[in-house]
Amino acid sequence: MNLIEAKKIKKSFGRLEVLKGISLQVSEGQVVSIIGPSGSGKSTLLRCLTQLETADQGEITVCGEKMMWTESGRAVYANKNTLHNIILNVGLVFQNFNLFPHFSVLENLIDAPIRIRGISREEATQRARKLLRKMDLASKENSYPCELSGGQQQRVAIARALAMQPRILFFDEPTSALDPELTGEILKVIRELAQEHMTMVIVTHEMAFARDVADHVIFMADGVIIEEGTPQQVFENTQNARTQAFLSRFS
Ligand code: ADP
Ligand code: MG
Repeated sequence: MNLIEAKKIKKSFGRLEVLKGISLQVSEGQVVSIIGPSGSGKSTLLRCLTQLETADQGEITVCGEKMMWTESGRAVYANKNTLHNIILNVGLVFQNFNLFPHFSVLENLIDAPIRIRGISREEATQRARKLLRKMDLASKENSYPCELSGGQQQRVAIARALAMQPRILFFDEPTSALDPELTGEILKVIRELAQEHMTMVIVTHEMAFARDVADHVIFMADGVIIEEGTPQQVFENTQNARTQAFLSRFS
């Protein structure tokens, strides 16, 4: 089953057309990495798929529920209830962690499950502690985000996203704000999630990671998908001049 099905997504900011008809599918258990130059529309695409931004045209279906479609050239969104049900399936991890600074680590993890999913405090706390152990953060549950390293904060952010039990997890450059020596601990956590068959879409500038972790790689530039395929096709056998030029910057 496809957890994400997006067809011909278009999005402009004023006169700037940022997404020029992007289509993608993500099936259950699949890991998709999205690579491409800065400004090519990767974040905008993730934001459109996760309801942080409205698309202008196209069609988006999440976990079998139609989220948006196009009528007479205009975007139509599902009703509030449907959008709420859809967003419960989806987790998002940002570049800058976006933790609640005035909440402890534990509170960061239990707030949404209690408030939005209606889980009891006891159950939410139990689950949160399990996730913190998994992220090697068991001793930090009473710390505040400002007391943690960037790598620890990002692991809390990943645990917080997982605490909502999403069916699909999106990452927007999860290591870009980190010192290089902290990048590895985040990539390791995401690799472990991949081994557990978590469905993920990962925007990243870590090319070796994008190649190793993904089942499917998408190369975007200027609001279009230039090339996509298996990691081997895109990273080793590309015949596409734009892909070659982009990848050569990293070697
Ligand atoms: P990427 O994530 O690939 O670097 P983005 O999706 O962030 O690309 O941005 C694509 C283009 O859209 C850039 O030119 C950026 O300046 C522009 N853009 C992104 N968000 C907005 C916004 N809210 N308003 C105006 N322009 C935006
Ligand atoms: Mg971006």
